[in-house]
Amino acid sequence: MKLDELELNIDYFEFDKKFYQTLDATPLNSSYLISYSKSACDLINLDYRECESEAFVKFVNGEKVLKGSIPYSMAYAGHQFGYFVPQLGDGRAINLGSVNNWHLQTKGSGLTRYSRQGDGRAVLRSSIREFIISEHMYALGIPTTRALALLGSEHKVYRDYFKAEKGAIVLRLSPSWVRIGTFEFFSRGKEVQKNLMQLTDYVIKQSFPHLINENERYEKFFFELVDKTAKLMAQWMAYGFMHGVMNTDNMSVAGLTIDYGPFAFMDFFEKHCICNHTDSEGRYSFNNQPHIAKWNLEILAYSLGKICNFSKLMAYLKNFISIHQNEYLKIMNKRVGLDSSLSGDSNLDLIVELLDALEMSRSDYNFFFWQLTNLKSHEDFSSILDYCVYKEPMAKWLEKYKKICEKQNLDIVKMQITMKEVNPKYIIKNYMLQEAIQKAEDGDFTLVNDLLDIAQNPFGEHKKFERYSKPTPNKFVNLQLSCSS
Ligand code: AMP
Ligand code: MG
Ligand code: MG
Repeated sequence: MKLDELELNIDYFEFDKKFYQTLDATPLNSSYLISYSKSACDLINLDYRECESEAFVKFVNGEKVLKGSIPYSMAYAGHQFGYFVPQLGDGRAINLGSVNNWHLQTKGSGLTRYSRQGDGRAVLRSSIREFIISEHMYALGIPTTRALALLGSEHKVYRDYFKAEKGAIVLRLSPSWVRIGTFEFFSRGKEVQKNLMQLTDYVIKQSFPHLINENERYEKFFFELVDKTAKLMAQWMAYGFMHGVMNTDNMSVAGLTIDYGPFAFMDFFEKHCICNHTDSEGRYSFNNQPHIAKWNLEILAYSLGKICNFSKLMAYLKNFISIHQNEYLKIMNKRVGLDSSLSGDSNLDLIVELLDALEMSRSDYNFFFWQLTNLKSHEDFSSILDYCVYKEPMAKWLEKYKKICEKQNLDIVKMQITMKEVNPKYIIKNYMLQEAIQKAEDGDFTLVNDLLDIAQNPFGEHKKFERYSKPTPNKFVNLQLSCSS
């Protein structure tokens, strides 16, 4: 479809006006297209060639409003680092409406009623990060919002008083932009029950449509979200993903990964890794993520409990960690080529010991699985051990692994077929994004586009970028990033 043929649908204005603001974007000066995702274009039936047009840049920049669109920003609240903040909202994001139930939103489009002390802008570096990683998560099969286009500009934005950066915009898409923090916002003020019921029905219609006519649909929505979130955390943990800012305003009620900030994919495995420089206490450290997700769902239960049976919600939430662990073990078994459903053994000990071995041997997390996938035989583990700083813990684990494979009579060729489905050759790490950002800041966007290709095809071959399939170079391992973006 041509850009001008797209027709956007607005469904948020059924709510009271205090829950959103209609507004115009404030366009960036001298904006231009840096990159776009063809597969994200398909989601809204947009002919990707349209992205190369001037009209498309104007559209993403907010200078051109499509048919049916009435731009608006949403109000929400949230618990940030454990503390309740009553008034948050889209401080720099503007919703444009939906196509095929994909809700379009531009991030970095200027001030809104919810900007607080912020400037409504997003800098180039964080926009490159969100753009690429959204598409990467999707390619890895991890539920996420998507990114369709990235605009750069000559617009000056200040995060550090002395250093001007360039403003950018990401056009992102999601089946839902509602957050746990949205429920917290709807839980206050007048007519709380009416508002919460309306919001929950909206979310059910949007993301859990099979529940529309169910009895106890509010409880069931919560149960399903508990399942989805527990499984999402299993995928994060199995792939070494750290979100960095799991505040309740950054937690989707559709079970998606949303709001990418100081995230990271693990370089060397470290259970207590903290990727967010501002998170001095490690509230959002790698290992804490499932526990925080559960804590966030409890916050949601306090809101939902006003319109349904709170104790049923809390009783169900007790299952969170076991749902999470079952799913985690399922994925991890696959990653090491074992079939836990055949053997009837979850291999819990083996997986826990693997994490210890990875940590003690200072191994690159993704690289380990890639090497394991490509072993020629179980007689020679040197292709893995050669990369371990301390070999002994890993050698010990590999011997145990070998015995289990022998006992289960597993054929290495067959194992590799399963492993290849879940073990990508490439994982986008922070140092790669950093290289692309440095070039982009000097006006060269080729690496941004190359990285997007790798991000979208992590299981494929990228001959020019063989080095990105190797362990993260030592000097770049587990660097922290800050939130200011
Ligand atoms: P985050 O932790 O990035 O999800 O942001 C928390 C809140 O601050 C959200 O309500 C954002 O919309 C808002 N925010 C972040 N950066 C800015 C900015 N530069 N201008 C306005 N609001 C912002
Ligand atoms: Mg956010
Ligand atoms: Mg390629």
